[in-house]
Amino acid sequence: MIPIIEVQNLHYRYHDGTEALRGVSFKINEGECVGLIGPNGAGKSTILLHLNGLLPENKPRSPAILLAGQPITDESLLEVHKFVGLLFQNPDDQLFCPTVSEDVAFGPKQFGEPEEVVRNLVQDALNKVGLSGYDNRSAHHLSGGEKQRVCIAGILACQPRLFALDEPTKDLDPRGRRELKKLLKSIPTTKIIASHDLEMITELCSRTLVLDRGKIVADGPTVDLLSNEELMLVHGLEKPHILKHRHPHL
Ligand code: ADP
Repeated sequence: MIPIIEVQNLHYRYHDGTEALRGVSFKINEGECVGLIGPNGAGKSTILLHLNGLLPENKPRSPAILLAGQPITDESLLEVHKFVGLLFQNPDDQLFCPTVSEDVAFGPKQFGEPEEVVRNLVQDALNKVGLSGYDNRSAHHLSGGEKQRVCIAGILACQPRLFALDEPTKDLDPRGRRELKKLLKSIPTTKIIASHDLEMITELCSRTLVLDRGKIVADGPTVDLLSNEELMLVHGLEKPHILKHRHPHL
């Protein structure tokens, strides 16, 4: 089976010289939901930005990333944005249209879907995220949680093969977190979720990648890695509460 995504020895240095990724390799198969965890500055966002082609900026693309076996090229960027739907940390970075329906329609329109199809995709996506009837509202007047749902609807409307989420619970209150987890569970698309919210990672992701200083330091079943206190501590993390009573070797 060809993996949905394969990253082979990815290196990246920002313009100021910061070495953010130092040889990252992993594969994700169709249907998986994979957690990406690690301390601040580990390189999580940098990886996600590479997956949908937003990085490298003004630099030659290396063949380090394969989407369904195909390398990302400058010519394939539009297809890449469609293939990998990226949810940014801050919804305000993703919303720029006067109304919710225009924001959700933006992606499918860009990918050349006919108007009638776009209308259906928008309604379907708003329905899935629980925002039916919000079409003519201005996204900028919605709550943080609702804005995030609009962003998720915009991604669903593009029908991506891989859904990449950067810190999706960061600004949510406990109820917002619960609702988001429920929503993500209901979306069957292959996912990679970067987060410090290890409870959510435990609940949603059967497999986890641990990243530290630009390198993958562990890749395996979430429950095994996250209940390994030594591994968590060494990499600036903490065994989550829901696993507190689980012994690492059981
Ligand atoms: P994480 O998402 O795990 O917190 P990031 O991918 O944001 O990590 O950052 C990885 C490293 O790259 C950090 O050292 C960070 O300071 C650096 N970095 C991130 N964005 C930039 C940027 N635009 N310019 C320079 N350095 C950056």
